[in-house]
Amino acid sequence: MPEREMVSVFLGLGANLGDARKALEDAVTSLGSLPQTQLDACSSFYRSEPLDAKGPDFINAVLHVKTRLNAFDLLIACQAIENLAGRVRPYQNAPRTLDIDVLLYGDAQIDSNFLTVPHPRMRERAFVLMPLSELAPHLVSPSELIHVRSQTVQKIPYR
Ligand code: ADP
Ligand code: MG
Repeated sequence: MPEREMVSVFLGLGANLGDARKALEDAVTSLGSLPQTQLDACSSFYRSEPLDAKGPDFINAVLHVKTRLNAFDLLIACQAIENLAGRVRPYQNAPRTLDIDVLLYGDAQIDSNFLTVPHPRMRERAFVLMPLSELAPHLVSPSELIHVRSQTVQKIPYR
């Protein structure tokens, strides 16, 4: 059987409980170790104020991977990594030790109960658009960045 082609995927990472920076570093390592998956690039880390949520500031990043996993298997793998990081879901938008969202899966449009791709809220979030534009400037328009400029998001100059 011919091998499935690698699909270019952008993942959104966020954490605001415990050692959030370490949680993101570990997540990058775990995601890079997934079967049939290779790490392409990780954005800078960003600090953002919680949006529609309470709690400490978030650390966010966007990761570019290439994978042969289908989108659902990839989501399940991301959720397993979240669970290993101690993720609990007491209520919607609760503070979290690690969140991994599938932002873009190639140019796929997916609308199922478990997975919506492109991620429906990604274009409203500066903490997604800023790191995404760092990795893939052609995927984010200047007007989209202007639209979210009131959100407080700062690039962390070093890791
Ligand atoms: P949040 O919306 O705050 O990220 P969760 O991480 O708990 O909340 O995700 C809630 C549900 O969202 C998951 O059970 C998952 O099935 C679903 N979901 C739908 N689309 C996506 C996506 N693109 N990436 C990640 N999860 C998604
Ligand atoms: Mg999520």
